[in-house]
Amino acid sequence: MTNLILLGPPGAGKGTQARMLTESVGLLQLSTGDLLREAVAKGTKAGEAAKQVMEAGDLVSNEIVIAIVNDRLDLPDVEAGVIFDGFPRTVVQAEALDKLLKAKAMKLDFVVSLDVQDAAMIERISGRYTCAGCGEGYHDTKKVPANVDICDSCGESNFKRRADDNAATVAERLKAYHAETAPLIEYYRNKGLLFRIDAMGDIVAISDQLKELVSKTN
Ligand code: AMP
Repeated sequence: MTNLILLGPPGAGKGTQARMLTESVGLLQLSTGDLLREAVAKGTKAGEAAKQVMEAGDLVSNEIVIAIVNDRLDLPDVEAGVIFDGFPRTVVQAEALDKLLKAKAMKLDFVVSLDVQDAAMIERISGRYTCAGCGEGYHDTKKVPANVDICDSCGESNFKRRADDNAATVAERLKAYHAETAPLIEYYRNKGLLFRIDAMGDIVAISDQLKELVSKTN
């Protein structure tokens, strides 16, 4: 059972790579962004508090996010191993994760920083959308379905875009990444857990590098 963190700015490919790893090696994707969007859609107390913050591209409070992760880690499916996608995003969250894992007798195997250039992220994010049925990711210019209205993976014709995937919000999210999240690279380097991958290249080649890292911890 491998537990790992995918670090990187919005658009670096954390979600895509987590999905591919889930399919290939069976790890569980734990995306705080997905859990927060779910909470917003359900109108829970945490969701109501998070909604505007997310729409502005700012970070949701450590308190809310840590509570969500704590609850999620109590479900039995985490035994398969967890890919933390979009968490931790601050040093406070990283310290909280250390404590949570210890309390739950889990261990962090490694952390991968997906290294990309900011300039490319705005274009990547502004054009992206997903299949509402299976979650397969697409892009207006880089990856359209063979038949534009039908998902290549599951055949559904219902696609969705995230409310925060617009140029103004993306700029804010990149700012939050550099101010709050980038210091985690140093945090995990100091713990001897950090690997860096050039994530500007081919999606499958990046996935192969991640699989290789996972296979070494099994
Ligand atoms: P993501 O899907 O990871 O891009 O996250 C979308 C939005 O959810 C972010 O821009 C934040 O507003 C919020 N969010 C997700 N994860 C976290 C986190 N670990 N800490 C604070 N806010 C988060």
